[in-house]
Amino acid sequence: MRLVTHDSKRGARAGALTPVGVVDAWDALGRPDGEPEGSSPNGTSPTGVRALLAADLLGELADAVEAADAGIADATLLAPVPDPEKLICIGLNYADHAAEAGIEPPSAPTFFAKFANALVPHDSTVSLPASSQKVDYEAEIAFVVGRTAKHVPVASALDHVAGYTLLNDLSARDLQMATPQWMPGKIFDGSAPCGPALVTADEVGDPTAIPIALDLNGERMQGSSSAQLIFGVAELLAHLSTLTTLLPGDIVSTGTPAGVGSSRQPHVWLQDGDVTVVSSPALGELRTSFAR
Ligand code: MN
Repeated sequence: MRLVTHDSKRGARAGALTPVGVVDAWDALGRPDGEPEGSSPNGTSPTGVRALLAADLLGELADAVEAADAGIADATLLAPVPDPEKLICIGLNYADHAAEAGIEPPSAPTFFAKFANALVPHDSTVSLPASSQKVDYEAEIAFVVGRTAKHVPVASALDHVAGYTLLNDLSARDLQMATPQWMPGKIFDGSAPCGPALVTADEVGDPTAIPIALDLNGERMQGSSSAQLIFGVAELLAHLSTLTTLLPGDIVSTGTPAGVGSSRQPHVWLQDGDVTVVSSPALGELRTSFAR
């Protein structure tokens, strides 16, 4: 399934992207009001993707979506999970990117966080922040947690992954490198375009062989595969689950391969009018336009 969040008169709601349009998940399940308030983790919308995951409804939903014969043709899509409790980004997780950044590959995963205001959907226009002149792209594969995970072993870690999506970890390099912590350059509004959909794990297949690419204005800048990850999806989930409890809907972006603009000579910084497309065969295309 290709899970999405669509905006409607009834608020932001979970849905499935199908050939007949977006099928509202809760209507398809025969529960238009979603999960009862209080049955999911704090802050979970009763009709969102997080509630769907927390209630373990994906199997039931897949059957209901298959039976649906009509969807919403002109749905307004938000990021697949627009309201995660956590958005964690792994740094330096491809050996080729660590090398181009001139940094030794870490012995344990390096990570930082973004906030929900960073998330924007496919086909957004992101305003380049006035506080930076050096905004860069980073094509990434992100996984979304499907089941609560605390001290999960690597061997069963993938049971806690709902699926995968694309994320562009936009990075204001001048702000990122101004302090030992990277977050100042990572948190501007719209700095995490994500989507177009959350593709369930069964449709993605082997998480150690997911291709990932980025084109800037039609030119290929990054091309790699999750096979090149230093810490793979299972290792990342297991490790993070020893540090904090991961909840359904939490997003973990797994890092970017070589080819970012800051490592090129001359450097490439995003400009007004630029368009990036992050792509992967099973995950689709995530297009973002930039304006200053
Ligand atoms: Mn990154």
